[in-house]
Formats: sequence, structure tokens, C-alpha cells
Amino acid sequence: MAQLYFYYSAMNAGKSTALLQSSYNYQERGMRTLVYTAEIDNRFGSGKVSSRIGLSSPAKLYNESTQLFDDIRDEHNRDAVHCVLVDECQFLTRDQVLALSDVVDELDIPVLCYGLRTDFQGELFGGSQYLLAWSDKLVELKTICFCGRKASMVLRLDQEGRPYNQGAQVVIGGNERYVSVCRKHYKEALQKGTLEGIQSV
Ligand SMILES: [Zn+2]
Repeated sequence: MAQLYFYYSAMNAGKSTALLQSSYNYQERGMRTLVYTAEIDNRFGSGKVSSRIGLSSPAKLYNESTQLFDDIRDEHNRDAVHCVLVDECQFLTRDQVLALSDVVDELDIPVLCYGLRTDFQGELFGGSQYLLAWSDKLVELKTICFCGRKASMVLRLDQEGRPYNQGAQVVIGGNERYVSVCRKHYKEALQKGTLEGIQSV
């Protein structure tokens, strides 16, 4: 039986690398994969999933109005699909997560979703909320804070590198940066308004 997987983490834990490796493993065995990524994230140019270590794959773009079940079923009828992989899955809508669960249950195709669990304010992303609720398998991809603990939080830094937790959940093309830290240092950085003096501890 196929299953719905949610691979989640903070930023920079190698999610895209893990996705590309899984896709490659299928293809190596002569199986066909479908890769999707969110239209909202065009850091690397459209229609592509790229990892920071230089791997990449063509991808279909989805936005909030994409009918994922219909799209995948049509592709599957044309030429059998053995696995669906979704990058930046935090941007999926509730209906799209439901549609992906239908792909698993009705078409019997495994669906592997990769994305962030929470935003820079520590709130669940919409897609992640329903993936946490409905996935068969939850897999945490770990990355570490500068202190060596597991980094589970995403800190937003302004142009001057000061942590802040205001503004829209997603800013594309802005000057802010994000850094993954442990919960203790997330709180401490916001309290002090700086990472300085914390990082050296
Ligand atoms: Zn830490």
C-alpha cells in the first residue's frame, strides 16, 4: 500500500537534497517520478528543484489553484507514475493535502512531501498543519543550531542581522535572512534583539 509522507524540518536541513535523492532512487530502477514545487519560490528559476549542494531536477509548479489530483491522475493515465514528490509543501492548501491523500488512497501512488514545519513566528504553515494531521509517516530531517542542539526554529533576521518576528509569513525577494536555531536560542535572540553574544556562548 502506498503511503503519504511528510519530511519536515527547519531551514537548511537538506530537504531538497533528500527529495532529489529519493527521486533518483526511483528513476534508477526505471520508475517514473513526478516532482512539484511551489510557484511562490522562484529562487532558482521556475520549474526546478535545486539543492544547495548543486543537484537539480525539473519540476512542475503548483500554486493554490492547482488541481493536484486531476493533474497527477492525467499524468498517470498517460504514463504510469511510481512516486510523487512535493517540495516546499508548507505552501499546500488544506484541499491540496486532501487531494494528495486521495492520490495515495485511490491511485495507490506514494506521495513524499518536503517542507518547513513552522514559520519564523513559530506558527505552523497551512500545508504543514494538515500534513502533520493526515500523513502516514512523519519524518524529521534534522539540522543543528550553532550550539549543537537540534535546530527546530527559524529566526528571521533583518538587513543588519537583527532578529525580529514581525511581518508577513512569506516575503519573496526581500533582504531578510533566515537562520535555523534551537528553541532556547530562538527565544533568547528575540529577547535580546541580537544574536551577538549568544553565538559565542
Ligand atoms: Zn542553540
